[in-house]
Amino acid sequence: MITHSATPDQLQLLPSDSPTVRLSVLDERLRGTKFVSLTPKSILNSPQQTGVDFWSLNPYVGCEFGCSYCYARYAHRYVVERAHDAGKLSDGEFQDFRGPHGWEAFERRIFVKDQLLGALEADLRRYYRSIGASVRESVPIVIGTATDPYQPAERRFRLTRHILERLARCEGLNIGVITKSPLVARDVDVLRRLQDRNDLEVYVSLISVDAALIRKIETRSPLPAVRLRALRRLTDAGVNAGLIVAPVLPGITDDVPHLEALFGAAREAGARFVHAGPLRLYAAVRHRFLPLLGEHFPELQERYRRAYARTSGAPRDYAAALARRVKRLQRKYGFRMNDGMQDRYTRRLAPPQGDLGL
Ligand code: SF4
Repeated sequence: MITHSATPDQLQLLPSDSPTVRLSVLDERLRGTKFVSLTPKSILNSPQQTGVDFWSLNPYVGCEFGCSYCYARYAHRYVVERAHDAGKLSDGEFQDFRGPHGWEAFERRIFVKDQLLGALEADLRRYYRSIGASVRESVPIVIGTATDPYQPAERRFRLTRHILERLARCEGLNIGVITKSPLVARDVDVLRRLQDRNDLEVYVSLISVDAALIRKIETRSPLPAVRLRALRRLTDAGVNAGLIVAPVLPGITDDVPHLEALFGAAREAGARFVHAGPLRLYAAVRHRFLPLLGEHFPELQERYRRAYARTSGAPRDYAAALARRVKRLQRKYGFRMNDGMQDRYTRRLAPPQGDLGL
């Protein structure tokens, strides 16, 4: 399962993000968020670069939504460290771009990829060369695998829209878009155009319909009702859109009533599909997520510590039990089973150790 909240480690070490940082601050918000220009040589990451089965594209590095389980913090750290090593950030700026605990800057120092349409042209040529003649078997291009392409920055910089407009001139591509933001509905016109000539799946990401729970776990993400309304707008407009429930948090959001509420809401919003996958607790996530777990769910701390003791993946038995539960719900709510994003991107087996007792 790939979302911008759960993905293999290599995905974040994006070679194409090797920065040519011009430290020009593009904008600054009242609460202190700065948007800084980044000029990467390319923006489309090949499977060879990332070790996963698809091409990926992320217009921003960092994300103001600030989900506690977000693994993409270390992509941000990588960019900042590379810039510092290259002498493009002073020691003082480096401290500012890392933050006191190493995770805050991800939410407050957002890199905005500059000149990306030029980079995309070259990348598309590389992409077409790699897939050869058979466009029908084209490897998917997924937008938003690491950071949210419709995060607040997009309202001003419109990078995602520009990318979609360019891709809409292509034919026969297989494109996925993942977001938590209702801003995606702004682009319903270009998404429709894109879908006319390409396979498109838009994944609205939501882990719970419980707004109070969401606010504990995702600091500034859009509330569930807002995301579901955006999903409704997409599906009403005929866009092939659905819900992605990832990560499912063991002991917190994995019970049947919780998942049923999501499946029911998805159906009401006209979703074409619902997929779900368990939490991956990457090293970069632990120091953000585990303190929060201790604060709000202290009774689960030991269970998580044991289950995720040796690797980041959920225990295999747990993942299999969750997959069975999800399939039952897909069947019950009339969604297709075992296709789309889940099969396409699930590759690595979860480890056998641990016990999360679904
Ligand atoms: S919305 Fe932003 S903070 Fe949340 S998981 Fe996605 S990229 Fe990370």
